[in-house]
Amino acid sequence: MSGINAVTTNAPKGGVRYERVTVREDGPVGLSPIYTGICGTDRGMVLGHLDFSYNPDKQDFIVMGHESICRVTSADSKTGFREGDIVVPVVRRPGGCINCRTGRQDNCSDGKKHEAGITGMNGFMRESFTDSPEFLVKVKDPALARVGILTEPLKNVVKVFEVFETVSRRSIYFSEDSTYEGKNAYVIGTGAEGFLFSMMASEYGFNTSILNRHPIDENRLKICDAFGMDFVDSSKGIPDENVDLLIDTSGDPATLLNFIRRMNYNSIAVMFGTNGKAPPADFTGKDIDHIVERNISLVGSVDAAKVHYSRALSYLSRWNSMNAGALSSMITDEKKPSDVSVFTERNPESIKIALDWS
Ligand code: NAP
Repeated sequence: MSGINAVTTNAPKGGVRYERVTVREDGPVGLSPIYTGICGTDRGMVLGHLDFSYNPDKQDFIVMGHESICRVTSADSKTGFREGDIVVPVVRRPGGCINCRTGRQDNCSDGKKHEAGITGMNGFMRESFTDSPEFLVKVKDPALARVGILTEPLKNVVKVFEVFETVSRRSIYFSEDSTYEGKNAYVIGTGAEGFLFSMMASEYGFNTSILNRHPIDENRLKICDAFGMDFVDSSKGIPDENVDLLIDTSGDPATLLNFIRRMNYNSIAVMFGTNGKAPPADFTGKDIDHIVERNISLVGSVDAAKVHYSRALSYLSRWNSMNAGALSSMITDEKKPSDVSVFTERNPESIKIALDWS
């Protein structure tokens, strides 16, 4: 047991505090965060919008934070880690179902998994904690000590593209030259996930467009240029072209439906963003005809496995060596952990906010 500073909430009620807490620690690897990231889920918890979040057993609070990059502070040699190693901890922890028992708790089939900082397990927004080696991914590239905070959001993207590759096998999907060149990918939403999805779609060779229903700032436009994607302001209209791959990070049914109506034969739409408070939209018989007659696949995807964290780190290393400035400009704000106003006040120019624990 130890007393440490941490960012906490009372799930699912909400609120946020930077306070001294005492929590049980029993992992063999000692860790101290370098940075923790803030995403929409953290804000949703603070606002009390996430009914599915809950405190760990026998606690009336939960330590927040699921995005982090940490330094190992102590480790027995049997763990495979050494003091000074940099690691990213895995968010989801297994329950007892077959997917959980085989390292695929991202595909948990009975809902009994836990998520650090979200459902029943303390998260990473604290001065120090301990963990088990099987839930730690080593960061081998020292250049990722800051942009490595994007590993957790990028691992979701890596999984979605694996899902895309699986689903696309139901027909001949690629172009006549065996690539995805000439195919159109649209990504709805210009948050951190939207940008990481667009970078990956460009990496795969798609003509990639990222879109929002309003203009975006200069920093975002520069990232689009650096990674070869187009920005579309949908309030001014949408290009008249078929969509082969659609990825939605908005969770807005009307926007998603508008694009599904433009989808090509054998195309794939991935639902990733969630927004339980979005207004409903009319899904008609004509929409069903369009989806059926064109063999359109609609898939949802949540979280990712340890293997996707490792692949995400490889992509970050590559993108960082190609476009270091652009990748790092995704981290728009660095704040102190005690500055809890970042959970409730949002600057529209922010993409990824990092809390600096050093
Ligand atoms: P974010 O920063 O809030 O990004 C959401 C983006 O969607 C914002 O740019 C927002 O625009 C835009 N948007 C909202 N409604 C729109 C509409 N009607 N048309 C076009 N754009 C619209 O969040 P994030 O961190 O990138 O995450 C994206 C979503 O994924 C969130 O819903 C999050 O909860 C979810 N998520 C899912 C998983 C998963 O495993 N499935 C994992 C992590 C996160 P504004 O600029 O106007 O705000």
